[in-house]
Amino acid sequence: MTVLLVEDTRRLAATLSRGLAEEGYEVDAVESGEEGLARLESRLVEAVILDLGLPDLDGLEVLARARAAGHRVPVLVLTARDGLDDRVRALDLGADDYLVKPFAFAELLARLRALLRRAAAPRWTPLAAGDLALDPGEAAGRVAGEVVPLSPRERALLELFLSRPDEVLDRPTILREAFGYDFDPGTNVIDVHVAHLRRKLAASRARIETVRGVGYRLATGRTHG
Ligand code: CA
Repeated sequence: MTVLLVEDTRRLAATLSRGLAEEGYEVDAVESGEEGLARLESRLVEAVILDLGLPDLDGLEVLARARAAGHRVPVLVLTARDGLDDRVRALDLGADDYLVKPFAFAELLARLRALLRRAAAPRWTPLAAGDLALDPGEAAGRVAGEVVPLSPRERALLELFLSRPDEVLDRPTILREAFGYDFDPGTNVIDVHVAHLRRKLAASRARIETVRGVGYRLATGRTHG
């Protein structure tokens, strides 16, 4: 397992490199955003640990460029900033998880293992309920027989709804399972994406119902034949 570490604070980078090596990871450590992006282009890594405060490019910019270039490697963001905005922006830009400095090394290891597990877990089973279907690895869903393109967030939402059809899903569950948030970002992010997804499912018998004060439920309409 090769981990790309992008961290300009040398003492921290050295500590992390040594600790990760002791855990059996091969560590490729670089000190700037440009070097990090260059490494992603030149070698295969299983995970990235990315500091946000870098001397050249902001870590968020590195993340945005990496995702725009099609790199789907799991990214764990390190941030010294306590602002919620950076964390939300990092997740929106495609970070898989984040850690606020200072953090315990054991926690970094646990998060890293979780990322690698999630990335390695293949989703073999196509998800379907009623007249809705989602194939693994496809960026589109099928709605009443028609292919409907989905954004990554819409896809994650639909995947969650289809994995638990007709079940009421509360907001913390949706935030965690579909968006990767283990905190409430204090925005209407769920509602915005649900509204988009509803429009895309318009041709379906299934409906995303609002469960007031709780969350949402995908009513698959199966009982109506
Ligand atoms: Ca830094």
